[in-house]
Amino acid sequence: MKELTADVIIVGAGPTGLYAAYYAGFRGWTTVVLDNLPEAGGQITAMYPEKEIYDVAGFPSIRGRVLVDELKAQADEFEPQYLLGSQAKELEASDEHVIIRTDDDITITGRALIITGGIGSFRPRPLPAGQEWENRGLSFFVTDPQAHDGKDVVIVGGGDSALDWAHMMHPRANSVSVVHRRDQFRAHGSMVDQARKLGIAFYTPYEVTSLRGDDNVAEVEITHKKSGEVTVLPAQSVIAALGFIANIGPIADWGLEIEKRRIVVAPDMSTNLPRVFAAGDITTYRGKVPLLSLGFGEAALAVNNAAPLVSPELGVFPGHSSGESN
Ligand SMILES: Cc1cc2nc3c(=O)[nH]c(=O)nc-3n(C[C@H](O)[C@H](O)[C@H](O)COP(=O)(O)OP(=O)(O)OC[C@H]3O[C@@H](n4cnc5c(N)ncnc54)[C@H](O)[C@@H]3O)c2cc1C
Repeated sequence: MKELTADVIIVGAGPTGLYAAYYAGFRGWTTVVLDNLPEAGGQITAMYPEKEIYDVAGFPSIRGRVLVDELKAQADEFEPQYLLGSQAKELEASDEHVIIRTDDDITITGRALIITGGIGSFRPRPLPAGQEWENRGLSFFVTDPQAHDGKDVVIVGGGDSALDWAHMMHPRANSVSVVHRRDQFRAHGSMVDQARKLGIAFYTPYEVTSLRGDDNVAEVEITHKKSGEVTVLPAQSVIAALGFIANIGPIADWGLEIEKRRIVVAPDMSTNLPRVFAAGDITTYRGKVPLLSLGFGEAALAVNNAAPLVSPELGVFPGHSSGESN
């Protein structure tokens, strides 16, 4: 068993947790930041590292991976201690301190806890016909676009991710086909229209009925949902973009006030437990919108409102990072 102490414990190294780590460092505190994933960056790293993001203040466009690198660089200035691959399992919160115990037997004691657990742990919705083909040509996210270069790529799904990836693959793949079980798409109509103009092939309403090949997938059998007609497409790469199943896991058992798998927070981001704050996608309050820009603001609110508990001599307002006095 390992024991650690920090001024502030941050559960979740997604974009909100990384920004909270920066802000806590800026306030002069030590932090332990834990995440059950092996890499920092939360949903961005796991699901859309190569996508451009257009609504982060100050960046007309920034690639997911680059935003995470910059958030990490900003936080790392204050040397947070990362525990990656560790899940926060138990919480003990009192007026004196907070204690987190992890699934790999680490106990961390802090003066405040900020929960930035996002949507919790998430796993992709499986492709029923593809169970044996994971890592043998079947993937659920595009984390390395080059891996699909020159291949016949079949994308399964009709949401924004499916269409984004179709566009991303088009210049690099030998062919791109989108297979969707309905005629209507959840993705933006303009993305579908543009994809058709680019020559991306659409198969609707079809479902994938089998994947075939030797070591790696070589072709995909699809069946028309109404007529039963079977078509076989060449495919060395199949990307199943069918959404994901999320679970906030142990956090639900910590005695927090929870509404629809989200933690209820007050305007200062405090929760119903002493010394416990929350920020980012995991929170709910009237008017909440689960976006990156909100998460950053909430992280700053949570950290600064924890200040009187972490360092009683400090006020809530941190002063300006630019050093300008007002
Ligand atoms: C495909 C896609 C595209 C998107 N595009 C945009 C966009 O263009 N603009 C925008 O503003 N938003 C976008 N979003 C939403 C945005 O990604 C989220 O709002 C953001 O990631 C929330 O950050 P977070 O840090 O609060 O949570 P998350 O990113 O979910 O990170 C939470 C982290 O906490 C960890 N965790 C959870 N429970 C525990 C535990 N018990 N112990 C340890 N670790 C734990 C998880 O493993 C995870 O890494 C998009 C989301 C998706 C899926």
